[in-house]
Amino acid sequence: MGARTGQDYLRALNSYPREIWISGEKLSNGLRTHPAFRAMAHSMAHLYDVQNDPALSEQMTYVSPTSGEKVGMSFLQPRSEADLLKRHRMMKIWADYSGGMLGRTPDYLNSDLMALASASKFFGRKDSRFEDNVQKYYEFIRENDLLLTHTLIHPQANRGVGPSKQSDPFLAARIVDKTDEGVVIRGARMLATLPLADEILVFPSTVLRGTSEDAPYSFAFGLPVATKGLKFICRESFAEESKFDHPLASRFDEQDAVVVFDDVVVPWDRLFLLEDVEAANNLQEVSGGIVHMAHQVMIKNVAKTEFILGVVSMIADTIGINEFQHVQEKIAKIIMLVESLKAMVRASEADAALNQWGIMTPDFKPLNAGRNLFPRLYPNLRAVIQQLSASGLMALPTEKDMESEIRKEIDLYYQAKNTPAEERIRLFRLAWDIAGSSFGSRQELYERFFFGDPVRMAGNLYNWYDRQPYKDRVMQLLHMDDETDTR
Ligand SMILES: Cc1cc2nc3c(=O)[nH]c(=O)nc-3n(C[C@H](O)[C@H](O)[C@H](O)COP(=O)(O)OP(=O)(O)OC[C@H]3O[C@@H](n4cnc5c(N)ncnc54)[C@H](O)[C@@H]3O)c2cc1C
Repeated sequence: MGARTGQDYLRALNSYPREIWISGEKLSNGLRTHPAFRAMAHSMAHLYDVQNDPALSEQMTYVSPTSGEKVGMSFLQPRSEADLLKRHRMMKIWADYSGGMLGRTPDYLNSDLMALASASKFFGRKDSRFEDNVQKYYEFIRENDLLLTHTLIHPQANRGVGPSKQSDPFLAARIVDKTDEGVVIRGARMLATLPLADEILVFPSTVLRGTSEDAPYSFAFGLPVATKGLKFICRESFAEESKFDHPLASRFDEQDAVVVFDDVVVPWDRLFLLEDVEAANNLQEVSGGIVHMAHQVMIKNVAKTEFILGVVSMIADTIGINEFQHVQEKIAKIIMLVESLKAMVRASEADAALNQWGIMTPDFKPLNAGRNLFPRLYPNLRAVIQQLSASGLMALPTEKDMESEIRKEIDLYYQAKNTPAEERIRLFRLAWDIAGSSFGSRQELYERFFFGDPVRMAGNLYNWYDRQPYKDRVMQLLHMDDETDTR
């Protein structure tokens, strides 16, 4: 089939009967029209349409090496710096569509999968079936342009002990049985952003390390979301109806769900790793998956910070505060962040090298620093919007107010320096959707945690980063005089 259109995606969404729970309601299909999902489904459809837009299709697709069809560029296994830049351009186009507010444009997990498949030999080191499985799965997803979600983390019951020491050994998703048909899994995982996907990847954490006791919890596989026994329990919806009132929440609520495996059978040909704790601990690093995901995430972070820079700049112009020094300083700090993030991405591409699987892989150092930095700085971006907007964030008539008799007064009293009331209200409602609304708060939580617990990610960075050359330099300085004396 190749790169699909929005219609292809929407048609597929309604054709698989999946089990989704939201606010006490059980949905199987009809997600296309449900108020919690329809806007997001249409935003996703738009992303797929972009691939087929004649003006952009060259940047969004490439020719499949197996079918000769045009397939999504995020599946491209980069062999050169030029390939990396092609991937970069495609990712930026998708990220800009939502101002970086969509974490799960398809390229995020497609990037992981293309890297995992490049390292298929690693998966097959103990069981050759898994090598084939991972490669075939990648080709299947690429050729059908299927949308992925994923779940990596055990339920948050007692973090003081591992999954095997919880009050119930099947709280965390665990192997129950192995049959001719496949492996049976029972228990739960969290969290799966975007239950509107076609397939779910169930993988080990990218951050946490398992021990030998965790073998029954160590697996990797991909399944249709519409698999018997697979249940998604969604959080309350933040999707809003009015695009005027909530320009972001009315388009981009991706949803997040806890995933329950009620004796789900994973067919043998969908398994990539089984009871292999060592491989589970290393597969993202060895395959380069983590690097390519971080590359995508940092490009999204650039798009998001640029978008917020646009918002705060417009707020400053609109209410005439742009000449105040502290306002300029606050906005200048966002410029510093935009340029720092862009430089990190550029550095990672400039220092890219072929890895052991022949894949052109960005240098992880700047990406790893950037993916640790952004969760720490994103809350400041929301704070700047609040600091510059002040009570403007509460002077927000709704679409219904705008259509009511009070409109005359609104037009008079909500006008800004050079901006009519309606335009000012639209801008400040957008600002609220970033800095204040449920949608905006979830964005902050997402940035803090989606890539892993920031505390343990920083610990990993500390342990992984080679600081020895700098320690040597210090030692050199400390003993400089000794050397001079000797001479
Ligand atoms: C909006 C959102 C979307 C997400 N989407 C996805 C997704 O699509 N797929 C997916 O797999 N995951 C997703 N996640 C989950 C994400 O991977 C986790 O939030 C992250 O790994 C942290 O795990 P946790 O939430 O269970 O926090 P916990 O591990 O429970 O941490 C809670 C607190 O305890 C501290 N803590 C816990 N254990 C330790 C320890 N051993 N040492 C030090 N401190 C500790 C943490 O620092 C933190 O402050 C998402 C999360 C969010 C918020």
